[in-house]
Amino acid sequence: MEIAPEIEARLRALIDEVLRVNQQFNLTAIRDPDEAWPKHVLDSLQALQTGYCEGRKSLIDVGSGPGFPGLALAIARPELKVTLLEATRKKCDFLRATITQFELGARVLNERAEVTGQNRVWRERFDVVTARAVGSIGEICELTLPLAKVGGHVILWRGQRAGEEIKAAQSVLKTLGGVCRKTLPYQLPGHAMTYNLVVIEKTARTPAQFPRREGLPKHDPLCVLEAQEKSLETESK
Ligand code: SAM
Repeated sequence: MEIAPEIEARLRALIDEVLRVNQQFNLTAIRDPDEAWPKHVLDSLQALQTGYCEGRKSLIDVGSGPGFPGLALAIARPELKVTLLEATRKKCDFLRATITQFELGARVLNERAEVTGQNRVWRERFDVVTARAVGSIGEICELTLPLAKVGGHVILWRGQRAGEEIKAAQSVLKTLGGVCRKTLPYQLPGHAMTYNLVVIEKTARTPAQFPRREGLPKHDPLCVLEAQEKSLETESK
């Protein structure tokens, strides 16, 4: 992946800042800069290969944590209008301070996605919704799809089993108004594993009941619910 030298310098400075703050406050399990570069920065920038992160698009990163992929994308593509959504206040404090330090135009919402997705100000407002390392496929589809505009895209960072996961989530996607357009496999330097970006197009509005109230997408995910309903249907036949 080609990164312009001035962007690379800013991304390396971002890693330095994350790892510096990480010594006092636990933001990430990765403590080595040589590991953080591929695992955080190069991994985040994989979204650029979708072609959906160009120009003045609005993008919301759900569960930003220390700012990946959201902050890395805001640095790599300064034209993007980036919102970082994060439930933990201390992480939001870090994100806000880093935005100021790097003079980025991004904003931070300290809220749970279940609440944001039901707020008319944010619901179905974003061209792109990203999420990395946040929950099971059922949970993350329910948290992200309500935020995407019809015609917009959800980009999910998933592991080796993304193909199977997304197959199992077909009916959940349909319920939420999405269609999986592609899975893009990739590898990171120094890592043998194949990861996948899952690209979902929002093709129809999400029914008003989604996302359900706080905690339900995680503890009672739609995939599981549907599987249980199917087994109950079979039992009652
Ligand atoms: N995306 C970052 C990354 O890949 O480094 C952070 C991943 S971390 C494992 C998951 C983050 O999502 C945590 O910071 C957590 O507070 C946040 N999170 C989990 N559920 C959330 C929700 N329902 N709404 C908002 N943030 C959430």
